[in-house]
Amino acid sequence: MAHKCAYCGKKNKLTKEHIWPRCIIKRVSNYNARFSERAGKFFEAELTISDVCEECNNGVLSKLDDYICEMYDKYFQHFHQKGDSVSFNYDFDKLARWLLKISYNTARTTGIDSKLLETYVPYILGIGQCPEDTFSVRVELIVPFQVADIQNNLVTVKELLPTSVRSCRAQFEGIDISWCAIRLVAINSFYFWLIFIPRNVVVDQREINSVVNLLPNNILYPECSNIVINAGTKNAVEMHRDWFERKIKEVKEFSRKTRK
Ligand SMILES: [Zn+2]
Repeated sequence: MAHKCAYCGKKNKLTKEHIWPRCIIKRVSNYNARFSERAGKFFEAELTISDVCEECNNGVLSKLDDYICEMYDKYFQHFHQKGDSVSFNYDFDKLARWLLKISYNTARTTGIDSKLLETYVPYILGIGQCPEDTFSVRVELIVPFQVADIQNNLVTVKELLPTSVRSCRAQFEGIDISWCAIRLVAINSFYFWLIFIPRNVVVDQREINSVVNLLPNNILYPECSNIVINAGTKNAVEMHRDWFERKIKEVKEFSRKTRK
């Protein structure tokens, strides 16, 4: 039995595709690891999906990829320091649809938020309106992490650049966000936060504020096409603490075993 395309729902011929656009993979080919939300670890191999038909892949979805690759060359390839401001020009629909697409593609490999993101398929395909009342996007700039490097009794400061591409569900320690969904799409310094609040949710304003306050203030509005983003102080290590902590644990575990 032929399987349906995750986008158009037709039983067309399905293709195997990378989750991240080929043009981005090419541009970050020196990043030797990519994160798999499903396995909870970084992989060297590329993540792929095989439930999208040729027509969707080569048509409407590849046009969105083209847009994001243009944005990569214009903005995402550049790293920014604390205090920098970037005047960011964007086409809200193209950017939002692409962010939803990569989130939906990741979600189908993990099962996390896949039902939620499926409801945005008409908008991703460009045949539906942006459900502005349930969905919003914020952006922030992540700065390099400064580390002291000691060699031959000389201390120098090294920079750890936020070089990563990541699409995942966000979690905040000690804060219940189960009534909404927050997803992150990170491309180097640029961190896009996707916020989904269901129409029928009953929570008080304080709870909404407690979540909103966790996120940067730079809201991308559908009716706008420019925003000035000021780089803050958050760095890559802070943002991916979950991964770094796991890595430290692995290293400790490894040295404990090898000591025996
Ligand atoms: Zn299709």
